[in-house]
Amino acid sequence: LEGQLRHIQRIEAIGQLAGGIAHDFNNLLTPIFCYADMIKRGLPQETPQAQMAESILKTAHKAKGLTQKLLSFGRRQRLNMQPLDLNEAIQSFHDILRCTIRENIAIRMNLAPGTAPVMADRGQIEQMLLNLAVNAQDAIKGNGTITINTGHVLLDDEYARLHPGMQPGPHILLAFADNGHGMDDETLSHIFEPFFTTKQVGHGTGLGLATVFGTVKQHEGYVAVESRVGKGTTFTIYLPAKAQTVSASAPEPKGNGSHPE
Ligand code: ADP
Repeated sequence: LEGQLRHIQRIEAIGQLAGGIAHDFNNLLTPIFCYADMIKRGLPQETPQAQMAESILKTAHKAKGLTQKLLSFGRRQRLNMQPLDLNEAIQSFHDILRCTIRENIAIRMNLAPGTAPVMADRGQIEQMLLNLAVNAQDAIKGNGTITINTGHVLLDDEYARLHPGMQPGPHILLAFADNGHGMDDETLSHIFEPFFTTKQVGHGTGLGLATVFGTVKQHEGYVAVESRVGKGTTFTIYLPAKAQTVSASAPEPKGNGSHPE
């Protein structure tokens, strides 16, 4: 248990560090954008110098994309939290997933009816689905299946105590599964660390799951992963079903035996 806690703290520390660097780096990009743009405007369009200025702008844009990813798990990005019907969010993202993922990979969805809304940033939830989907695709050779399930679950105090970082209470869960190559324990123990990748140079940045981890943390949720080599991988994301408590306008439960720790 202590090991797990240390592990989470370590990922968070790396995330904070990377987020801090990204923040300062992002600020440094501003004059680069500004001056490259001024240089470009001051030159006739077809000159090689104007094209070089254009290259600077394009590269700076790429750098901005990267810092954006880093910021998202360094908790320095502002979130637009709204009550969100997770089923609806997943359903309306289906088309984008479908045209991103290879045709020989089926996408199945089993969305539990009547799930309570969660407080979430729709953009970040979509980004999370995309990251998980691209990883699933990379893990599948040839034909395969991605399965997205939702459900609701009440996490009790004891269960939460056994899973550091998990809060007890009603949760909506999102299980994202693939039948790809899976992971061994050694790989599993590093996947949420920024820049950890087993992919070839140019194919992975190692930021996808660190971002997922950061997103889930920012939503006060919990992410669990199960994987078997040669069988596949399932990421289960628990998001607190907060909105229900808000809209039900029920009085705060008292003396429910919760204890500090
Ligand atoms: P990247 O995809 O750029 O490598 P990620 O942080 O998204 O970075 O993933 C880190 C590593 O975790 C991957 O390189 C891969 O080894 C492993 N991984 C992630 N998702 C899966 C999956 N669905 N199946 C098997 N391995 C996975």
